[in-house]
Amino acid sequence: MKQFKDFRSDTVTRPHEAMRQAMMQAPVGDDVYGDDSAMNHFQCFAAELLGHEASLFLPSGTQSNLVALLTHCQRGDEYIVGAEAHTYLYEGGGAAALGGIQPQPLGFGHNGELDLAQVQSSIKEDDFHFARTRLLCLENSQHGRVQSMAYMQAARKLAHDNALRIHLDGARMANAALRLNVDLKAIASCFDTVSLCLSKGLGAPIGSLLFGSEAFIAEARRWRKVTGGGMRQVGMLAAAGKLALTDGLNRLHEDHEHAAALAQMLSNIDGLTVREGWTQTNMVWLDLQTPCAEALKAAAVQRGILLSASGTTCRLVVHRDIKADDLPALARFFQDFFSA
Ligand SMILES: *Cc1c(COP(=O)(O)O)cnc(C)c1O
Repeated sequence: MKQFKDFRSDTVTRPHEAMRQAMMQAPVGDDVYGDDSAMNHFQCFAAELLGHEASLFLPSGTQSNLVALLTHCQRGDEYIVGAEAHTYLYEGGGAAALGGIQPQPLGFGHNGELDLAQVQSSIKEDDFHFARTRLLCLENSQHGRVQSMAYMQAARKLAHDNALRIHLDGARMANAALRLNVDLKAIASCFDTVSLCLSKGLGAPIGSLLFGSEAFIAEARRWRKVTGGGMRQVGMLAAAGKLALTDGLNRLHEDHEHAAALAQMLSNIDGLTVREGWTQTNMVWLDLQTPCAEALKAAAVQRGILLSASGTTCRLVVHRDIKADDLPALARFFQDFFSA
């Protein structure tokens, strides 16, 4: 099969050789019985890394967020969330379908933050006409944009002052931490619970972690089983996850450097605009002058390049399997496409 240069997402990385070796050699046991020592160690290691009491491994980020919502909220409860947030928009309405949990979506502002005054005013009074507002859910990074520590701290204070819990959809929080030049703990300390994807820029093939207190994770383990996420010999995935949170974390800066370089290379091409201020992590967003997404993707395939584009928007994502050498060819493709 032809090897494409794949800029569609950072989910496309394949486990590298050292990761495959570690997976092959991992000790395994039945994790539903709590017998998988590699997974038990990994969950403790990860909890320590984020400064939370406990963590739980789940097959996907979607399930991680779903289990968080099911654990935080009862039927008829409400959570406040971004109208374009993954949890609300891209997870099939799971919280409503499976938990009877009502979302209160609010529009995102600059950098994917929710306006805290608007959050405050959308918290419902204790009155049986209203759903019970229980949870505030943020996303960082959001479409590659990063909210500040000061913002997250203010959101935490608002939530706690109003007896809400606060959850972070931190699928790409490692990218956010890198951008903010803080460790994962600093971000995690602003939230009661956090979900983090191992299978994006960090490079594992499968998996997400959910973080919280011992009591929260015990209850989340129950919901994981209920939603079909109790798995058996997962030591192999723990081995991959461990490398994601060590080696994968340590090389993540390369992706940010590559995205910045790419944005620079694309900055003077007629027919597209690099979205100003959006190249903060491993994504570059382009606005196309005309709605040529379909033609663009088709032409890219001819050059061995895969792109994600729709209408007048194109998102380029760099990751471990994209090297610095691959960037000029991508820039040349755009140049050629728009000068043809
Ligand atoms: C990818 C992603 C998820 C879901 O992860 P999956 O593993 O694809 O289910 C959740 N939230 C955000 C912000 C994401 O980017």
